[in-house]
Amino acid sequence: MNDCVFCKILSGAIPAKKWYEDDDVFAFFDIAPQAPVHFLVVPKKHITSLMEAEEGDTALLGKLLHTAQRLAKEQGCGERGGRFVINCKSDGLQSVDHLHVHVLGGRKLGWPPG
Ligand code: AMP
Repeated sequence: MNDCVFCKILSGAIPAKKWYEDDDVFAFFDIAPQAPVHFLVVPKKHITSLMEAEEGDTALLGKLLHTAQRLAKEQGCGERGGRFVINCKSDGLQSVDHLHVHVLGGRKLGWPPG
């Protein structure tokens, strides 16, 4: 989608610390990290939010989560874990309207969210 920040990162129109890409998903480090490990895993298909994902996206959603888990391990979070977050629409304070999974780790994270 033309005016989507994450689609622009995917195309290279906006620079980002992109460190993983395959046919379906890509990952880059968050520009405003909230933990020592904080990266985003994003489907290449422009799905506006999790609420807009359809049944046909089931395999893609599975791949998104599994990739997030695999990359979290690569970032050293396998032993102590971390948090996988999908903010969704206005109540979830989603600020970029392209489905993405935040992966946070490297420190003890607070709960519940405010
Ligand atoms: P959300 O609020 O869940 O939609 O998260 C969007 C995330 O994208 C925020 O954590 C931002 O810091 C991050 N972000 C926005 N623009 C960029 C960018 N150009 N490069 C990397 N991360 C970004």
